Amino acid sequence: MGMTIPAPVRPLLLLLPAITLAAAEDIVFDLRYDVRVKEDSPIAEVAMTLAMEDSLIESFRFRVDPARQTGFAGDGRIEPGDPFVTWYPPAEGGRLEWKVNLVHKRNASGHDSWVGEDWAVFRGDDLIPAAKTEMPDNAQADAELHFDLPEGWSEVTRFRRSRDGGYAIRTERQFDRPTGWMAIGKIGVRRERIAGIPFAVAAPVGEGFRRMDVLAFLNWTVPELKRVFPDFDSRMLIVGAGDPMWRGGLSGPFSLFLHSDRPLIGEDATSPILHELTHCAMSIRGEPGNDWIVEGFAEYYSLEIMRRTGTITAKRHEIAMEDLRKRGTKVDNLFVKRSSGAVTARAVVVLAAVDRELKKKTSGRRDLDDLARVIVGDGDLTYARLVKEAERLAGGPLESLAPAKLPGAPGGGD
Ligand SMILES: [Zn+2]
Repeated sequence: MGMTIPAPVRPLLLLLPAITLAAAEDIVFDLRYDVRVKEDSPIAEVAMTLAMEDSLIESFRFRVDPARQTGFAGDGRIEPGDPFVTWYPPAEGGRLEWKVNLVHKRNASGHDSWVGEDWAVFRGDDLIPAAKTEMPDNAQADAELHFDLPEGWSEVTRFRRSRDGGYAIRTERQFDRPTGWMAIGKIGVRRERIAGIPFAVAAPVGEGFRRMDVLAFLNWTVPELKRVFPDFDSRMLIVGAGDPMWRGGLSGPFSLFLHSDRPLIGEDATSPILHELTHCAMSIRGEPGNDWIVEGFAEYYSLEIMRRTGTITAKRHEIAMEDLRKRGTKVDNLFVKRSSGAVTARAVVVLAAVDRELKKKTSGRRDLDDLARVIVGDGDLTYARLVKEAERLAGGPLESLAPAKLPGAPGGGD
């Protein structure tokens, strides 16, 4: 992720034999998303309009949450189901509509999607769920997103504005759809380019979110983060809001949410915003049981970047690492479904040991930064791949990643 795909030229090649076409050019189809939110309603009305030639796309198989995305209706044939709704559009395309409940509780301590009187905060995934599509490999969407909002409301997304007031959606997927955090309503936005990355920091007006503090912190830390991850250059959106949103930080593709009450740096010297930002910079996801690697890197670099930039002293960094070591001692299985608390603490300690060993084995020529860069963008990261890449960098096996050192490791002693 993170690459910009140039807008494909509408091919005249459609007239040529199919075999030439497949090798030569993308076949472009048009997608338009319309999102309508009305005053005093938690329901967003979403429409997807598809224009294509020659039955280019047979079907869209949406994975829906039947409690949130409902009322699918439109052209062609719609096959309802739970959790899959399949749309078979007409040969030249058509329109599909559905409704989305924008109010969603993450857990007892708050919402990860909310719409109130003056604002709403949610993810693009809530509006347009992921779908499996059947289309030729060279088919590529030219997608746009448009909002229809109550008087006085505006919207902010991580995407670039298109000429007609919508947003151009470019991802690396064939079925381009808007993902990442978004905010609508009476929203205040501050924009700044930091280390080449266009940042937008947005929050509902009057929600007590300190946009300037956030920008100052980003100015202080992002250049160093960028030194570790030089390919991190996508437009970034940071959305802040208060209750009843969840009191923490949550990252999405090149965007993150942070609750107004969260400090930039906590009393234990960890930084929720830098943790989520590292998730955005790395864009990695673990295969089941490998979440400790993803969370470990995010927490490791949130501390490390602050140490490198002098945001915290070396001494305070040392104390924080010692706290994590103590906290992670009792962990008897790193390979859990969702890494948090003690498991993540232990993961940071493991990665710090990998860093030391890499440096030692290569006389300081390689370190954890090299390993982190190699795995950037990996959507199905595994322990096996981490070991393989680390060994390649080190030129031999690493004791710090041996199964015996990792509780719960496949082939380990525990
Ligand atoms: Zn995390």
